[in-house]
Amino acid sequence: MGKIIGITGGIASGKSTVTNFLRQKGFQVVDADAVVHDLQKPGGHLYQVLVQHFGQKIILENGELNRPLLASLIFSNPEEREWSKQTQGEIIREELAALRDQLAQTEAIFFMDIPLLFEQDYSAWFDETWLIYVDYDIQLERFMKRDHLSKEVAKSRLSAQWSLAEKRKLASRILDNNGSRDQLVSQVVKLLEGGDSCARD
Ligand code: ADP
Repeated sequence: MGKIIGITGGIASGKSTVTNFLRQKGFQVVDADAVVHDLQKPGGHLYQVLVQHFGQKIILENGELNRPLLASLIFSNPEEREWSKQTQGEIIREELAALRDQLAQTEAIFFMDIPLLFEQDYSAWFDETWLIYVDYDIQLERFMKRDHLSKEVAKSRLSAQWSLAEKRKLASRILDNNGSRDQLVSQVVKLLEGGDSCARD
């Protein structure tokens, strides 16, 4: 079995910056958000289960899911929220497990970028977990800039997630992204070389 590294962080903490670099270096990286997106496309497993549960009303004319409607159906009702968390969570986990098992056959080392790695209890899958950490104020600033959001909206989205300070306690390696992109990438290089200068303190 190859070495499997889980990458996580918060919104706009720098996960994509790290995974883009890893892909450039030729590593395989599973992107959990992209996997979920594929599963929710017409014909995908999540799409089928959601339509079966909520009915045709959640399908737009072009066949795609009506995401705003879906979000309001799920978040306005605690029972639907629980159903969604359980059912979608299981299907996503099965799909990620299949991708993991497939890559483990061919790769000596590979990565899985899972934003909710700790929240959804994926830690046991990994030999190492890398947290892309950034201080709150810088995270807020980069998030607002990247997604063109007001401070209020960006703050409320961040407050719906576990804080990076909390996740710090759970990760086996911490990559500090308060500096430049180059500084972030050089921490990745060090970890790939087996250096432990970024190990948790
Ligand atoms: P995530 O994938 O965790 O949401 P991104 O990698 O997209 O985060 O980074 C969030 C935003 O911050 C992007 O616009 C990215 O270009 C920018 N960014 C990431 N790291 C740095 C950095 N060290 N310095 C300046 N901007 C950065």
